[in-house]
Amino acid sequence: MSAETHKFKTEVQHLLDLMIHSLYSNKDIFLRELIANAADAIDKARFESLQNDAVSRDWNIRIEADKEKNAIRIIDNGIGMTMDEVVTNIGTIAKSGTKAFLKALEEKKAANTPELIGQFGVGFYSSFMVAEKVEILTRRAGVEDHAVVWASDGKADYTIDAAEKEDQGSIVTVYLKDDMKDYLEEWRIRQIVKKYSDFIEYPIKMQVVRKDKDDKEEVADEILNTQKAIWLRNPSDVKQEEYDNFYEHLSHFGKPLKSIHYSAEGTSEFKALLFIPEKAPFDLFMPAEQRRGLHLYVRRVFISDECRKLLPDYFRFVKGVVDSSDLPLNVSREILQENLKIDKIQKNLVKKLLSELKKMQDNEPEAYLTFYKEFGKVLKEGIHSDFTNKDKLQELAMFETMKSEAGKLITLKEYVACMPSEQKDIYFITGENRTVLENSPHLELLRSKGYDVLFLVDPIDEWVMQSMTEFEGKKFAAVGKGDIELDDETRKKVEEKNQKAEKEHKSLLEFLQKQLESHVKEVRFSKRLTESACCLVGDTYDPGAHMERIFKAMNQDMPQSKRILELNADHPLISAMQNMYDKDSKSAQLVDYAEMIYDQAVMTEGGTIADPLKFARRVADLMVQAIK
Ligand code: ADP
Repeated sequence: MSAETHKFKTEVQHLLDLMIHSLYSNKDIFLRELIANAADAIDKARFESLQNDAVSRDWNIRIEADKEKNAIRIIDNGIGMTMDEVVTNIGTIAKSGTKAFLKALEEKKAANTPELIGQFGVGFYSSFMVAEKVEILTRRAGVEDHAVVWASDGKADYTIDAAEKEDQGSIVTVYLKDDMKDYLEEWRIRQIVKKYSDFIEYPIKMQVVRKDKDDKEEVADEILNTQKAIWLRNPSDVKQEEYDNFYEHLSHFGKPLKSIHYSAEGTSEFKALLFIPEKAPFDLFMPAEQRRGLHLYVRRVFISDECRKLLPDYFRFVKGVVDSSDLPLNVSREILQENLKIDKIQKNLVKKLLSELKKMQDNEPEAYLTFYKEFGKVLKEGIHSDFTNKDKLQELAMFETMKSEAGKLITLKEYVACMPSEQKDIYFITGENRTVLENSPHLELLRSKGYDVLFLVDPIDEWVMQSMTEFEGKKFAAVGKGDIELDDETRKKVEEKNQKAEKEHKSLLEFLQKQLESHVKEVRFSKRLTESACCLVGDTYDPGAHMERIFKAMNQDMPQSKRILELNADHPLISAMQNMYDKDSKSAQLVDYAEMIYDQAVMTEGGTIADPLKFARRVADLMVQAIK
């Protein structure tokens, strides 16, 4: 077979373009990426050999600086690739989320945001920052005498051909550009390996020239990395810089906000090094795309780099490594899914993370806020999904409130501590944004009483609130729903007032009820209004109006539940309308007013009215009459 030429897929070309036009200002990292790929390949081969009783090898990575050819080679004896694997792994970008992200990057002219690109593992392509041409010679472990050679100058296409290679693994040869020859210098290579790849657990070997004791030069192999798995070291001996580098190795971008390094003993024994990132990755809410899950090792042997079972979904932003001493070495990926020991590890990790977050919330409020703004939305999912830890998660949750300034968050503990003694419930209201909520008529009475109200503006809040029933013995009460609970004195006053109004305005209420029958299920006097004329509320167990809008935005059908129209008995509009009704109960204007009351109520809670044109015409008519 002779060499075939293939065109890169468009998205790969985009990526290469971005790479070559130096998205990364730090070109050194190409070596880090190629070494990481080599180590991954050995991880996989080692895992396979564990299961197949294949011969164990002297696993290692080798770097060769070939000054004659201006090339640097990264050689591993790992898993290698078949021809098909080369085509899919190297020639395409499989993940659709990555494609979408690339497009967005391009539109944003992302040359200024180098940290973004590392997020989707473009590792291999980074070699084109320094290369004129890259060649991969590779042979898949377990496949007899069949190797592949791939080559490209990183422009439009690559060639692929059958080849000869004696042993399993890959040789990646990077032919350096003229101004990149620096990377052939021993000290450069040494420096980069030390900085980025020191903890790689396989020896990274290189031939170096040394002087023997008689001052004669000799060539000898040297191992450039200390290979000390960082998570096995004593936390007090690890420098922050080393944690940062290791975090970057795991996550490809950014820095950790918090490093949590500990050993568990007792029912399950393991060492863990967990990181809470400083920034959320772009795919946090794209579950299918995101690389999530911790890396799992068993007694230093790599098992999986996507062990999702180790953490619940609401901790999916946590990165790190768990090294277990009590799992069996030959544990297969399937068994991992339902292993009791894994569940025990998960419990322990969750407990640790929750307590570390609590500590951070108490002792480093600024850092905690940074964390919460990035990941609070994800963490809150746990309130709904993790019943055992609900209380702790509720303590970690933070909210804006009616009284707090925009953007400031408080805890439920702080809310409760500020409740006036007669206030019974924790009030909350859900809505699209702070401005809509601030102007909501539902808050009037509570505001006048000096009560605070939690503002819930994340779409997920509607869902989370279904599980939040109580905190420190106080019930949660939705301000826009049901029969609002007030203290006894206020309740009595309001009820008396409303009973009186019901008698006085009996005929008007009946008229409105009939007129608005198709919009609302009831018209009644309100306990929550002090200024506005009207508002809409739901029955206690109805989904909120905000929830309905969310469903609609997601194109999901949801049965529209009719709401209740509440009127403010003290508002002059009510007695004026009553007058009108008494004069002429069939007045066309009265019908207009009824419809306008309803439309107003819809608008004040951020909804859209059914017929804005009609509404505008009615307002204009009214204005004309008022001016006359
Ligand atoms: P990533 O390593 O983040 O997946 P890369 O672009 O660096 O992204 O590599 C793409 C894929 O190519 C890898 O996932 C792996 O399957 C394969 N690959 C790269 N280098 C090697 C290697 N040295 N040995 C075997 N497979 C490799």
